[in-house]
Amino acid sequence: MPSIFSKIILREIPAHIVYEDDQVIAFLDISQATKGHTLVVPKVEYKDIFEVPEKTSSRVFEVATKLAKAIQKAFGAHAMNILSNNGEYAGQTVFHFHIHLIPRYDKADENLFKLKNNQGNLTPDEYKERARLIKEALS
Ligand code: 5GP
Repeated sequence: MPSIFSKIILREIPAHIVYEDDQVIAFLDISQATKGHTLVVPKVEYKDIFEVPEKTSSRVFEVATKLAKAIQKAFGAHAMNILSNNGEYAGQTVFHFHIHLIPRYDKADENLFKLKNNQGNLTPDEYKERARLIKEALS
């Protein structure tokens, strides 16, 4: 079954589209977490970052960069979170890869994405081993 975003791409359901080319579409997130909250989505439906080809995600990030600047200009947003939830445990709810552009306007917004800091719980060897495993998986 096509995702809700594919239905937007196919004009089967309405959306406020702000950008479109042959590969990428961007439209206002219905939730408008902040003013101008926008989603950038590849037209081909890939479930998440683990499925999307790097060429496609590169193009999505290219458009996201262009749109971040447009949103800054349109609303005077001088702070922005660029977020992509991938997988249920990461909070993904629409399983069609996408990037959120979430402009931030004031101090009340600033704590929304505070990450846990585990620095004090790790030994130098544990860092080394984690880095080694990632590098090994890349090759
Ligand atoms: P996720 O939770 O997967 O990271 O993000 C999905 C986003 O899609 C949510 O922020 C949600 O508000 C948005 N969304 C869900 N359904 C629709 C829709 O029908 N139209 C638009 N424009 N956004 C939607």
